[in-house]
Amino acid sequence: MKRNCLLCNESFAGRADKKFCSDQCRNAFNNQNKKVHEQFIANVNKTLRKNRMILHQLGPVGKSTVRREYLDKMGFDFQFFTHSYTTKNNNTYKFCYEYGYLEIEQDKILIVIWQDYMRTGFKAV
Ligand SMILES: [Zn+2]
Repeated sequence: MKRNCLLCNESFAGRADKKFCSDQCRNAFNNQNKKVHEQFIANVNKTLRKNRMILHQLGPVGKSTVRREYLDKMGFDFQFFTHSYTTKNNNTYKFCYEYGYLEIEQDKILIVIWQDYMRTGFKAV
């Protein structure tokens, strides 16, 4: 059975599960892919760090309430957080590392700092 190499597109013969014409192409392809996923991780980390810095700047010493628009203006990305904590009252705080927030009203955000007791409710995202 003839197939084309995933990297260089040359046709080659071999086992049905073979995807590359050579070890060289396989290694090069894997390195490329690694770079893509490392880049993805780096981008997510960058967004999370930025979110964390914004929460740190707006609520540096524990509980504080801010308007959602301040977070928006500073470029906070609500899609990205590291983990969550759900209270008995079913409020789910979203954290960016040790800083967390809860949307308490339509336009208000409560900023908190991670506490050790929250670990029981730890949920990896
Ligand atoms: Zn090849």
